[in-house]
Amino acid sequence: MKISNHRLVGADNRMVPFVSTSNQGGGLSGGAPRFLVIHYTAGGTAQGAINTFRDAPVSAHLVVDHDGAITQMVRFNEVAWHAGESGWKNVKGLNSHSVGIEIVNWGKLSQTAAGSWVSWTGQVVPDTRVVLDSHKHFPGATHGWEVFDAPQMEATIAAARAIVQEYDIQPWDVVGHDDISPIRKIDPGPAFDIDAFRAVVFGRSEDAWSDVLYKVRSDSGLNLRRTPDLAHDPIKNLADGTTVHVIEQPGTWWLVAEVLDGDDDVTGYCHSRWLQPA
Ligand SMILES: [Zn+2]
Repeated sequence: MKISNHRLVGADNRMVPFVSTSNQGGGLSGGAPRFLVIHYTAGGTAQGAINTFRDAPVSAHLVVDHDGAITQMVRFNEVAWHAGESGWKNVKGLNSHSVGIEIVNWGKLSQTAAGSWVSWTGQVVPDTRVVLDSHKHFPGATHGWEVFDAPQMEATIAAARAIVQEYDIQPWDVVGHDDISPIRKIDPGPAFDIDAFRAVVFGRSEDAWSDVLYKVRSDSGLNLRRTPDLAHDPIKNLADGTTVHVIEQPGTWWLVAEVLDGDDDVTGYCHSRWLQPA
């Protein structure tokens, strides 16, 4: 895939189908995206998402169906309404600075008394399409999540590659909605491995861009928080000696990711006073 005039061009060298929406807000800040934000639709069909993005005051640049079919709804140099209240690094309100990709997926599921998995609308999701995992913002609480389909992932990866190359977006600026709106949002959730996604989109190992390592130096540990202040309860306490990647050092509160083996990074803010170079 590639990008031509802020439109996505498929592997067949044709522009992907475009369905316009009035739910968009003019040009992006600086005329180009700086971030790429991944979402799930919390729905069952691409058509349902497209209808919502035409009818309700929400939208995204791309919708990726289960079979990998992509529909573009907003040009990549224009604002789509996908992120809402959000922040990443020193930027607030990511709609003005990002491309949003919505992947058709129910997301978090619940279980009936009889043991079936159902979506928030009550639609039954077969057991074979459910993965059990805990969300990185709520460690220890296990839920069922709908799996993402292989063709859907391939298409999302190909589109993301084209976008990051065209607009020179950096690995740590490819994020989940749950990274930039961690109080409100849980998509794309644990069924979408954002670290593996970054690695394959950029074609290198995660370590290649995660070389700024610090260690927690505090006998009582260091609280990891969802926002760069004390407004909310900590996500977790990082024990003395924990290694973190430092993603951004805008001031006294640093955006960091805990270094875990074979699991999702847990991102959040720490007070830098108790971090020392590893
Ligand atoms: Zn979202």
